[in-house]
Amino acid sequence: MRLARRVEQITGGEGDGWEIYYRARAMKAAGVAVTDLTIGEHDIRTDPAILRAMHDSAVAGATGYTVGAGIDPLRRAVAERAERMTGVPTRPENVVITPGGQAALFAAHMVLLDAGDTGLYLSPHYATYPGTIRATGARAVAVPTHAEAGFAPEPGPLGAAIAAQPGARTLLMNTPNNPTGAVYGQEAVQAVAEAVLAADLWLISDEVYDCQVWEGAHLSPRALPGMAARTVVVGSMSKSHAMTGSRLGWVIAPPEVAAAVTELATSTTYGVPPFIQHAAVWALAQGPAFEARIAEPFRRRRRLALALLAGATGLSVVPPRGAMYLMLDVRATGLSGAAFAAALLEAEAIAVMPGESFGAAAAGHVRVAMTVADDAFADALGRIAAFAAARTG
Ligand code: PMP
Repeated sequence: MRLARRVEQITGGEGDGWEIYYRARAMKAAGVAVTDLTIGEHDIRTDPAILRAMHDSAVAGATGYTVGAGIDPLRRAVAERAERMTGVPTRPENVVITPGGQAALFAAHMVLLDAGDTGLYLSPHYATYPGTIRATGARAVAVPTHAEAGFAPEPGPLGAAIAAQPGARTLLMNTPNNPTGAVYGQEAVQAVAEAVLAADLWLISDEVYDCQVWEGAHLSPRALPGMAARTVVVGSMSKSHAMTGSRLGWVIAPPEVAAAVTELATSTTYGVPPFIQHAAVWALAQGPAFEARIAEPFRRRRRLALALLAGATGLSVVPPRGAMYLMLDVRATGLSGAAFAAALLEAEAIAVMPGESFGAAAAGHVRVAMTVADDAFADALGRIAAFAAARTG
């Protein structure tokens, strides 16, 4: 019996980019003490007060089906957060609650792309992007950004790359960026908006790290003139509230797109459990101070890393302006990101992500998640620096 080709098409028959993570997990299961700096997950758990709100809601009876778009108080809370952070008027009708940002990414592409269309994504990119686009039956095409430009889109090259893809219907961008830590400034966001308007594309803007900005300010492309009508924002409680396992995300879109995403939910997810939505309402009501507290360890470790790695031999840090990762440029060692990560895991039992897992544009880099306690993090950075220095001629 034959399976549908869809799943094979998602990975393109290659690995999914998470091989080092899987190997590290297997080593841990075999009893090796691995320092795991691969995955973007906080080293704290969800705040007990959020769990209490979840528990209280469930015990009070919120355990049944909910409507596909999400409960009204949560759609309102998400709309208010977006309006507060971006200044763009946002109504509950613009918001659909999804089981995490990943489901929102999938839903956005699913309602905007037909099979055979082309979906573009800026690269380096979060590892799931090409597979998510391919899962809709569309072609996924990377539009590179460059290390020399701080991995931010540049007006000329961006417009040219997009013009070279006449079948394109969507462009996916991500600021603050995973894996590079880039936070797009006015010029970069403007460049994206102009290119999208010129090519008549939908823009899908992944803003799950809007809560983690260390330098500059988060600028949503939805706030630029003419863009709210063609932008679908993807958001999530995963990073902002350390709720990765709760699977609570959203799209913010023009009402007709939001309605289409709701339609899709009926034949896919059937929405998000109501007690999780109630917990999210409670968490969002705590306001920006709560989010800042969740983000603080990454701000601190970023500072620590920049101090520790200044003047290192064989590697240089691309100073992250946002998000919970560091990109290390390891090209001076002569190793690819993948070879560096594999050898580091073997020699030091430290797991980092090869840049190549995030696209050819990140080749020769590794991504380090700042997701272990400060002392363990500092220790790992010291060993990574020594490892790189020993391999530099
Ligand atoms: N977008 C980006 C850029 C991410 O890094 C992640 C998770 N690492 C997601 C989306 C998806 O997150 P979630 O589904 O947990 O909201």
